[in-house]
Amino acid sequence: MKIAVLPGDGIGPEIVAETVTLLKALDLKMEFESAPVGGSAYDLTGEPLPAATLNLAKAADAILFGAVGGPQYDTLPRPKRPEQALLGLRKELNLFANLRPAVVYPELASASTIKPEVVAGLDILILRELTGDIYFGQPRGMRTNAAGEREGFDTMHYSESEVRRIAHSGFKAAMKRGRKLCSVDKANVLETSQLWRDVVTEVAKEYPQVDLSHMYVDNAAMQLLKNPKQFDVIVTGNLFGDILSDEASMLTGSIGMLPSASLDENNKGMYEPIHGSAPDIAGKDVANPLATMLSAAMMLRYSLNQDLAAVRIETAVKKVLAQGLRTPDIYQAGTKKVGTREMGQAVLAALKA
Ligand code: NAD
Repeated sequence: MKIAVLPGDGIGPEIVAETVTLLKALDLKMEFESAPVGGSAYDLTGEPLPAATLNLAKAADAILFGAVGGPQYDTLPRPKRPEQALLGLRKELNLFANLRPAVVYPELASASTIKPEVVAGLDILILRELTGDIYFGQPRGMRTNAAGEREGFDTMHYSESEVRRIAHSGFKAAMKRGRKLCSVDKANVLETSQLWRDVVTEVAKEYPQVDLSHMYVDNAAMQLLKNPKQFDVIVTGNLFGDILSDEASMLTGSIGMLPSASLDENNKGMYEPIHGSAPDIAGKDVANPLATMLSAAMMLRYSLNQDLAAVRIETAVKKVLAQGLRTPDIYQAGTKKVGTREMGQAVLAALKA
């Protein structure tokens, strides 16, 4: 099993290093090869996604990704910015299905800013379409209009086939879980969303066991805070999914706890924490490595068919939380504050125990 390791920028290298150490301890036949991506790749080669990095990702069975970005790159022309590497990898590898579980561990229920009784026991999956929508639609740009005023424009676009395949992913995910699928759109205002709703409704006929509902995105944003446990799987487009999955992350108490998987049609995938490169804490040994470790567990499960190993990592993470170890982002009085390395070593010890 060949794993492409792309640590990226900011806290990326710190959290990925702990995770690779953990993966190596599983004693599976895995080969790891690293390559630069994002801002660090730009610094080295002038490109955020060098051809060698893309080729490594293409040749691998799965990709473990840290995070990219940093303020020093914010003024670069858009094609050179670190985030382009992510968009490029998703597009080139056809990673159209983004799985973002939001799970509230019992020990962390009170770490959420939402009342514990609202979030305790939460286990939902947000499925975000990743390669279409307003992030990729053409035309887009900035121009000066007839009145001499600058204007910016983007195009929201979905084709029927794009909606159909993510709808299938949504129904399949729901079949493996609580058999409830909520499709989120803005069909009261957007044509793209009306097509989305029509196609999802058509696909539903192939999954009579799944209970399908539709919800407008503004209501979904509200319901996620009011009663998040009403959901099982949420399927939505790229833009709405981007925002709702970050909102869902806050239900769990920390963005540092949330893994993600981005899969193609054959379950080859890229695995990464949902957070960014956190430049504010980079290099300080305080970043929470658990989201990356849980992403590695998803990699073992979805791309490498190593369910047992995935469970070993998840169990080790739970044990360490039960022991009371916390990185600063999830720290509460009465628990023990640890850094990135100490947390990594504790999970490693729990895995080996
Ligand atoms: P961010 O997710 O990097 O950070 C948001 C906040 O959460 C910060 O206060 C940060 O310290 C904290 N945080 C994030 N991950 C953490 C962890 N593992 N442990 C503890 N605390 C953590 O988002 P941002 O600040 O908006 O963006 C920073 C940079 O990351 C930007 O350049 C942005 O473009 C980029 N970004 C990259 C990705 C990605 O690579 N997938 C995703 C989002 C943002």
